[in-house]
Amino acid sequence: MSDQKTRTELHELGEFKLIDVLTQDIKLTNSSTVKGVGDDAAVIDPLGKQVVVTTDYLLEGIHFDLIYHPLKHLGYKAIMVNLSDVYAMNARPTQVTTSIGVSKRFCVEDLQELYAGMLLACELHGVDLVGGDTTSSLTGLTLSVTAIGLANKDLITYRSGAKVNDLICVTGDLGSAYMGLQLLEREKKVFSGNPELQPKLEGYDYILERFLKPEARKQLIDLLEAAAIVPTSMIDISDGLSSEMLHICKSSGVGCRIYLENIPIDQVTHKMAAELNIDPLVAALNGGEDYELLFTVPIDKHDIIAAMDGAKIIGHITESSTGAMLVPPQGEEVALIAQGWNIL
Ligand code: ADP
Ligand code: MG
Repeated sequence: MSDQKTRTELHELGEFKLIDVLTQDIKLTNSSTVKGVGDDAAVIDPLGKQVVVTTDYLLEGIHFDLIYHPLKHLGYKAIMVNLSDVYAMNARPTQVTTSIGVSKRFCVEDLQELYAGMLLACELHGVDLVGGDTTSSLTGLTLSVTAIGLANKDLITYRSGAKVNDLICVTGDLGSAYMGLQLLEREKKVFSGNPELQPKLEGYDYILERFLKPEARKQLIDLLEAAAIVPTSMIDISDGLSSEMLHICKSSGVGCRIYLENIPIDQVTHKMAAELNIDPLVAALNGGEDYELLFTVPIDKHDIIAAMDGAKIIGHITESSTGAMLVPPQGEEVALIAQGWNIL
């Protein structure tokens, strides 16, 4: 791994010194953190709130490819995808634990890079890293992050609360992370065919960042709180709009209408999609890894959401008997399906 000048082998430090090195820069800032790294378990005071807990496992070769995923970005992403799940409950993340399985291929400096990314993500969201586990792995790198968050009981938002006539809303734009991944995969193939060739990534920073270094949508939770809006349902978009919308419909026992022309797609996503001959709508509907928030609100909140920075109304909730449908600008409605939906 690391091509930096210094390479400290893991065995030079041993497990306990390694844990010290990785956790020495941690500064606890959260009032609910009573004890962080250094005992058999962390201690957290929920401060009279409900606790949400979520965990994600990232395996090299399955969830990430270190050929194009810098370790610092990977650490950042591993934290962000968990914080995104906490925000999707309309809760505030407060602590994370981080467990790693590493082989001799990695050196201490590599893991410091990984932790620098993790700690940066934590800092941006006011989250304390309070523990973890360190083990050896014979093959690839494994990463497991658990995030803990707090919320008042009456604010927690489930997938199951969407009601007929609610507005369906989404943050940011969709399909960009998927297009970033397609670009990285294309360049990886070109590079493995001819290592002399330099990757052509200029002009595509936006979609590359969206894939390599996603951001959890704390801003929406802040804006909703400021507007005193509690969504009726919410989910984060990790597997594509179609699949997440169907989760809400199924859990809530409702149907939906999503207007195709309202689905937010960035210019760079359009450009890459044209170059790779992929329908950008397919990327938005089925691509995944956007980590945007999909949520529903009562229709009387229309004007507040319409004026809200970074949120867009894309449809409305219907009776379940009318199905979950996509509405094109012209022509027939198309049933929303989780995979393989094709506009043609
Ligand atoms: P135990 O043997 O009781 O599991 P460890 O020696 O594994 O204890 O861990 C000692 C302390 O260091 C604990 O507070 C644990 O949460 C923390 N820790 C261990 N590995 C990591 C890691 N990779 N990242 C962050 N904290 C860690
Ligand atoms: Mg342990």
